[in-house]
Amino acid sequence: MELTCIKCPIGCRVTIKENTSGDYEVSGNLCPLGKQYALEEMTAPKRIVTSLIRVNDKVYPCKTSTAIPKDKIFEVLEEIGKLKIFSANVGDVVVKNILNTDADIVITGTN
Ligand code: SF4
Repeated sequence: MELTCIKCPIGCRVTIKENTSGDYEVSGNLCPLGKQYALEEMTAPKRIVTSLIRVNDKVYPCKTSTAIPKDKIFEVLEEIGKLKIFSANVGDVVVKNILNTDADIVITGTN
């Protein structure tokens, strides 16, 4: 599998292969973060989630404070969709540790 490391702006093209003993071999990374990223992508991929949240009669952008497991994204989006917020400012945490992912939901704009 080939992927682009997103841990820094260099964006190394990293290759990860499973060898015959079941271990992963990583190449193309300029630093250890690339190996860590590739291994995580193979075994437990995570993503920052951005969404919109209702605040009274408006819709504000929000995001998770940290990356969450990919297989939790739709559940988290459903939870965000259920929320009723009456007031919020940029940077406010409106949900702590959503669905036990260790990520908070943070308001990122108030357009
Ligand atoms: S492997 Fe290291 S240098 Fe390359 S993109 Fe990832 S973090 Fe940056």
